[in-house]
Amino acid sequence: MSRFWSPIVHSLTPYTPGEQVAMPKLVKLNTNENPYGPSPQAIAAMREAVADQLRLYPDPNASALKEALAGHFGLARDQVFVGNSSDEVLAHTFQALLKHEQPLLCPDISYSFYPTYCSLYDIDYRVVPLNADFEIDVADYAQPGGAIIIANPNAPTGRALALDQIEALLAAHPDQVVVVDEAYVDFGGASAAALIPRFDNLLVIQTFSKSRSLAGLRVGYALGHAELIAGLERVKNSFNCYPLGQVAIAGAVAALQDSAYFEQTRGAIIATREALSERMAAMGFEVLPSKTNFIFVRHPAHAAVALAAALRQRAILVRHFKQARIEQFLRISIGTDAECAQLVAALDEILAG
Ligand SMILES: *Cc1c(COP(=O)(O)O)cnc(C)c1O
Repeated sequence: MSRFWSPIVHSLTPYTPGEQVAMPKLVKLNTNENPYGPSPQAIAAMREAVADQLRLYPDPNASALKEALAGHFGLARDQVFVGNSSDEVLAHTFQALLKHEQPLLCPDISYSFYPTYCSLYDIDYRVVPLNADFEIDVADYAQPGGAIIIANPNAPTGRALALDQIEALLAAHPDQVVVVDEAYVDFGGASAAALIPRFDNLLVIQTFSKSRSLAGLRVGYALGHAELIAGLERVKNSFNCYPLGQVAIAGAVAALQDSAYFEQTRGAIIATREALSERMAAMGFEVLPSKTNFIFVRHPAHAAVALAAALRQRAILVRHFKQARIEQFLRISIGTDAECAQLVAALDEILAG
């Protein structure tokens, strides 16, 4: 607390990211990082960009990246927005598109940054509970609201909605923006990007952090109707004209182009996820069906907090959320097969003891 703070600062509830700790031989399954490195082609492109023109400001429009994304998704360049991480893209989205007379609707259990942005931008929001199986039921959004935001697949549950459900949601709310945060869509979900030509109220947000393994680079993007994108550009250019440097632009373009590496690594993560889900179920865990690079699990006889602490003693980090309805769950990121084997061995030991 300081008397020098602007009034709003007193009322903010900042987001708490998963911890980044330096422990020897740590098995880090707490922040959904990709266990495989970025594309070697992306690393080479970034090295080259470092030797290049860092003296100069980057292209404020990041045209090379917008062009690559537009080509990838079959969209026009003015249907693409890019930013310094999808968190930043989300922040601009909240400010540019989600503040209306009626409250913003979002799931009760979802990405916990959404309420944080609401407090930052003074946006009124109302939570819509997931059903008893921790699924989004789009029928529950048939209520007054100024806009809607969901994550699909959802976090931290890992559950995905089918595309026809997203389509039903868009069709039911033609006068509200519907934002679909697709941070994990490449691990088995169906992207709503295909619906953009048919729905001018749809904004899809994705990131290079998870499936492209570039969390450290900070590149995210939004796809949608040109008028939605133009609104985001106005906010972005009132905030920071150069959110992406040359290195980030070069790395993201090259990562997008290396589809062989992308397919290989996401395939490995999906295979490991399926094997780990089966193994955890055999140990007595309830495992929600995941379409992401993490699983969300609970054990009927062991408290989540105790399990997380026991794992931590064995240098294995997982994520626990102190939140109603999910306090007995652990969110476990999918690591390499070797890391998941270590997790399983540790859990066998903990459950036996
Ligand atoms: C990880 C994550 C993001 C943030 O991704 P960055 O691009 O690294 O900021 C956004 N939304 C959800 C649901 C996430 O899990």
